[in-house]
Amino acid sequence: HMVTIRYAEGKGWYEPRVEARAPIPMDPAAAVLHYAQEIFEGLKAYTLPDGGVAMFRPDANATRFAQSAQRMAMPALPVDTFIESLHQMIKIDRSWIPQSEDGSLYLRPFAYASEVFLGVRPAMEYLYLVIASPAGAYFSGGVKPVTVWVTPDYTRAAPGGTGAAKCGGNYAAGLSAQAEAIEHGCDQVVYLDAVERKYIDELGGMNIIFVMDDGSLVTPPLTGTILPGITRDSVLKLAERAGRKVEERPVSIDEWREGAGSGRIRETFACGTAAVITPIGTVRSTEGEFTVADGGSGEVTMGLREELTAIQRGRAEDPFGWVHRVL
Ligand code: PMP
Repeated sequence: HMVTIRYAEGKGWYEPRVEARAPIPMDPAAAVLHYAQEIFEGLKAYTLPDGGVAMFRPDANATRFAQSAQRMAMPALPVDTFIESLHQMIKIDRSWIPQSEDGSLYLRPFAYASEVFLGVRPAMEYLYLVIASPAGAYFSGGVKPVTVWVTPDYTRAAPGGTGAAKCGGNYAAGLSAQAEAIEHGCDQVVYLDAVERKYIDELGGMNIIFVMDDGSLVTPPLTGTILPGITRDSVLKLAERAGRKVEERPVSIDEWREGAGSGRIRETFACGTAAVITPIGTVRSTEGEFTVADGGSGEVTMGLREELTAIQRGRAEDPFGWVHRVL
């Protein structure tokens, strides 16, 4: 199925519908096709041990969606409407939710400028939709460390840009970098900052966190050029609660390379909704290659992964009230 809600200037959000998923008719002059005024979110619905169904922190996705809307000069969808639309989707497509321990129904809420006009200005009509797709375990046959490519050519976002928004344009601009990473035999691209080309921002679709030799976590700060990941936030909160030191500060590619060599940086992992936590084993760049945690999966990384997935899946206590039960 799909959920749709329309928006028109002066009228607000109207005509919420749940209907069979079908193509959406679009005029060739719909604003989104020309100026990419579009935003989206991604989150999972999954089965709990008692047979119930839950989502993880959908309120955080709703808030980020509203922030993305603001950056893209779009009207914000109320948080309650966003969450209610996901409830409707899950209820009607419940049979698509995998029963397996690590499968999920991936939910994709998005909104775009549907107004028909060719001038450059914020549109006055929008369409919000939710679609869904069942997903299996991200790693089949166990978690494997990934090899990443530090792109020398591309940046993801500059100060004042759209890095903190989840808008389609960011991903369109990242496709060349992703292709470059694949050409170099890597799974993911790592972006450096756009100003000095020195500090690590994030990966193509994940944030990055470093585990230092004293057990503390270090991660790049949210200064507007990276996406404020919900997984990133959850990992930092769990670590702090366990008494681990957490520091948000810039980390340069040189610090990463030297730290991995000297043991100052013990482990590095990427985090995001799709894979939750992924160990980074090898880092490739135009200056050669280095390994982190001997190229394997570090102990702290795997511990945090187990801790977070156990909370998400209802196998462990949920100290922050993150698990949002739907059914
Ligand atoms: N950075 C980027 C560029 C992403 O696309 C994602 C995935 N949404 C993330 C970070 C991680 O965010 P989250 O933990 O909310 O999935």
